[in-house]
Amino acid sequence: MKKILLLGTGGTIACVPSAYGLVPQLDGAALLQLVPQLDGLCRIDCKQIMNLDSSNLEPRHWQQMAEAVAHNYDAYDGIVITHGTDTMAYSAAALSQMLQNCRKPVIFTGAQLPMQAAGSDAHANVLHAFTAACSDVQGVCLAFGRLLIHGSCAKKLYTQSFDGFGSVNRQPLAIFANDVLLWQTQQRRGGGWGSGAFSVNTKLETKVAVVKILPGTTPDILDFYLQQGYKGLIIEGFGAGGVPNGSNNWLPQLQKALQAGVKIICATQCLYDGVHLDTYPIGVLAQRLGAQSAGYATIEAAAVKLMWELGQE
Ligand code: ASP
Repeated sequence: MKKILLLGTGGTIACVPSAYGLVPQLDGAALLQLVPQLDGLCRIDCKQIMNLDSSNLEPRHWQQMAEAVAHNYDAYDGIVITHGTDTMAYSAAALSQMLQNCRKPVIFTGAQLPMQAAGSDAHANVLHAFTAACSDVQGVCLAFGRLLIHGSCAKKLYTQSFDGFGSVNRQPLAIFANDVLLWQTQQRRGGGWGSGAFSVNTKLETKVAVVKILPGTTPDILDFYLQQGYKGLIIEGFGAGGVPNGSNNWLPQLQKALQAGVKIICATQCLYDGVHLDTYPIGVLAQRLGAQSAGYATIEAAAVKLMWELGQE
């Protein structure tokens, strides 16, 4: 039987009711007791590395998760990480970046309802995550609802639906049908996959922000980030991406930020189809100044990638 490690980090899946709403309290072993379908599937050890609402997670917690995976990588065939849904897409993207040449399954999962709540989605999600962890998929993935998603393409789309996550700009790796994995792609590779020797690199620059443009937002907003010493900015613009260059002209301020050494990535408020800076002057001119494109990355993946790349400088 395969040997799988469960790393518990908290989230609704582990919550119990309190006077202040749901708080994570159950550890991995308590969660597993409520999923008897796992008996006979694999051997499981549990380690609790934190027990937090994922909205309270910070980059140092991603580093802790990546280090826990690296520490146990050789001893296990796969790793399941139970996690809150709110920021699970960020953590999955972060581990996809930090774990290099990851050839074992590292599967994030969580739930919209606590494991102990009637009608919870937690049992199915945990069963699916362990099924994926016992499969031959390699790298970081997220198992949720009916989907197995590449670790850097997941996005939380619904606050309540059991199909809470989508796979953005990439096919899901697999669909769960009656608890069986139906592969959708030939290559069963998640985030961090590579053919070299496994390693972990958790260095990050956290002075990174996302600036969302509204119609009429003026570019003086960039001065704040410059004054505060930010090293990277993701400008979440409209449509194919870029910055306004009309009567409200962002280009001079953009140039100032770039000349100050700030790395600028143009992203889009659209969910699908990516950024295409060469389509309109708003993108072409920003690009000529040195802004780069987020391409097909989600905001979560683009932000984490920028933190990681700046962390290597
Ligand atoms: N607030 C919770 C969390 O992200 C939501 C969830 O897990 O569904 O930890």
